[in-house]
Amino acid sequence: MYKIAVLPGDGIGVEIVPEALKVLQAIALRFGYEFEFNEALIGGAAYDAVGHPLPAETLDTCRNSDAVLLGAIGGPKWDKLPVQLRPEVGALLPLRKELGLFANLRPSVLFPGLVHASTLKEEVIDGVDIMVIRELTGGLYFGEKKREQTSDGGQKATDILSYSTFEIERIVRFAYEVARKRGKKLCSVDKANVLESSRLWRETVNKLARDYPDVETSHMYVDNCSMQLIRNPRQFDVIVTENMFGDILTDEASMLTGSIGMLPSASIGGEVGLYEPSHGSAPDIAGQKKANPLATILSAAMMLRYSFDLEEEARLIEQAVRTVMEEGYRTPDLMEEGKTLLNTEEIGDLVAAKI
Ligand code: ATP
Ligand code: MG
Repeated sequence: MYKIAVLPGDGIGVEIVPEALKVLQAIALRFGYEFEFNEALIGGAAYDAVGHPLPAETLDTCRNSDAVLLGAIGGPKWDKLPVQLRPEVGALLPLRKELGLFANLRPSVLFPGLVHASTLKEEVIDGVDIMVIRELTGGLYFGEKKREQTSDGGQKATDILSYSTFEIERIVRFAYEVARKRGKKLCSVDKANVLESSRLWRETVNKLARDYPDVETSHMYVDNCSMQLIRNPRQFDVIVTENMFGDILTDEASMLTGSIGMLPSASIGGEVGLYEPSHGSAPDIAGQKKANPLATILSAAMMLRYSFDLEEEARLIEQAVRTVMEEGYRTPDLMEEGKTLLNTEEIGDLVAAKI
């Protein structure tokens, strides 16, 4: 039995999460597992109910589960709250920190029939299957920050970028393990021609590379990588990089395959992994059954793979999503001539039925 904390959150979160649960139930039925779903409040919904976007009970529910499935949080209704109570700052950042999630995984996979959704040409994009692994709890975003007055009446602002061997080793080792189970290629991205933290990063990767002779290791400067992702994305299998570079590269990589409604994510580290779609709460389409639930369903697949080590089951979900796309079923975000328009629930039902 697996215990899953379920946090639908706000906006389309409450519409897409039930579809992922449906699919997990189908897996349970087919393979004889039991999933215990423990629902809890987060984001604006939690603020409205109990006055805080991340209530202590929610954190407890997460800590007492084997994994967390999150929908999306935030929306215009809560944008004017003091910053610490805003859903993103008050809930998502502390949740990641509390759960010790140091690795963020975002795949970029081209699904059948979605070539046109990309801004790139078919011959460049066809067959793209990249996993970007971003360090999530160190580097520039977590370093010391300060402001000072300068003698000329201006100011000086400082952000410290630092990484320890320990921090680099744990993310790089993790990335090697992922690469081992995929295309056996790891590209480490840094700026070692300029940054000392990048030099330590590169040395550490080279040291660990000896433990993974079955994986082909390469290094790339981040500026070159941002270019190569557009020029020839098929050269990449797994990319591993530090926090800020990863923040930028994951957004860039996500656009290769076009549709925001198809992109899952996983944040992993401590005992409990967090799985959520890459997109937000989409307030503009909330409550209309238009949301594409596939990113959330694919996030559930990542949960099976990375938290429960259920590779076959994860693949089955991914295959079911592929089949549904191949058969021409679409939510409004991906709709085009000749395809069959379905709503959020109908797409979820179809994926579950395939399983
Ligand atoms: P956030 O700050 O939380 O990332 P955002 O406003 O930047 O929010 P989204 O909430 O992801 O971004 O929405 C961006 C656009 O993509 C919106 O027009 C939204 O309707 C659309 N969108 C996002 N997710 C989906 C989905 N699952 N299905 C269909 N359309 C979506
Ligand atoms: Mg956004």
